[in-house]
Amino acid sequence: ERLVESVADREDQAVEAALRPKDLGEFIGQEKVREQLDLVLRAARARGATADHVLLSGAPGLGKTTLSMIIAAEMEAPIRITSGPAIQHAGDLAAILSSLQEGEVLFLDEIHRMSRPAEEMLYMAMEDFRVDVIVGKGPGATAIPLELPPFTLVGATTRAGLLPPPLRDRFGFTAHMEFYEPGELERVVHRSAALLDVEIDAAGAAEIAGRSRGTPRIANRLLRRVRDYAQVKADGRITQDVAAAALAVYEVDARGLDRLDRAVLEALLKLFGGGPVGLSTLAVAVGEERETVEEVAEPFLVREGLLARTPRGRVATPAAWSHLGLTPPRSQAA
Ligand code: ADP
Repeated sequence: ERLVESVADREDQAVEAALRPKDLGEFIGQEKVREQLDLVLRAARARGATADHVLLSGAPGLGKTTLSMIIAAEMEAPIRITSGPAIQHAGDLAAILSSLQEGEVLFLDEIHRMSRPAEEMLYMAMEDFRVDVIVGKGPGATAIPLELPPFTLVGATTRAGLLPPPLRDRFGFTAHMEFYEPGELERVVHRSAALLDVEIDAAGAAEIAGRSRGTPRIANRLLRRVRDYAQVKADGRITQDVAAAALAVYEVDARGLDRLDRAVLEALLKLFGGGPVGLSTLAVAVGEERETVEEVAEPFLVREGLLARTPRGRVATPAAWSHLGLTPPRSQAA
């Protein structure tokens, strides 16, 4: 398990509920999304109507599940939580849809990973609040129409572009969640520390925020590890020194790179002079699978502007050299 993984692990699942903001006012950052969603929900409430379907796109750990729960809370509606991969057959979806209460929020995480037949059933359910339940098999099969109570679908996906247009078009409101700014993550850390009853100063919160890769889930996870360290090795208070020392133990560096990220960058710089080098060669050099380098390490390195993927191979940027405290060869110096 990587400490800087953005997908929830078991511990996250167990403790995250306690840290979730309960209403839009408590939700930190994402100003535009909050403002727009606030209007959508207020208007629906004023009309006494069920809110439009909402599509939330963005990386894991940015608050999509949290927002769906806030939507339900603001609409004073119950919520059902499921995910695309959990819906194998159209029948699974029919069972969920037909048991929804009027106005209920259905949160469908990883909606792009639903099966095709379920997806087609969802089109009709979203548009007409109706599904056709197929009874029987082969030539004797019949479609029995079933009315559904109005509900609000909140779909979540890593990228809206992964959705087929007919599905995308059926959402009344689409919001893209961005990575968080350091200042916003500092607020997340302060808020969580208060809920966990941990004392932390401003520099301590900034230190954790700066290593959290723009992601509240990672900020909360790092905070828990730093809290452990503060308890065992210090007086329980989190200062900048305590946070830096704790995260050094876990090999999460000042920019949020972990051991794998650094190994990839180091190989690229030290063995290949900063590139260009092919992905397979780079993967062999760090003793990892191609896929691990490409899917686990590279996206963050690219986002941080430390590595570029070019047609000729992987190339380190000047920022990569300075991050690892190395001097680029003369030919590459600015
Ligand atoms: P996602 O569904 O996008 O993977 P979650 O909604 O599960 O992300 O959020 C992960 C954790 O991060 C939650 O425990 C939540 O407390 C925290 N979090 C996410 N967004 C915010 C935010 N805007 N303000 C405060 N905490 C947040």
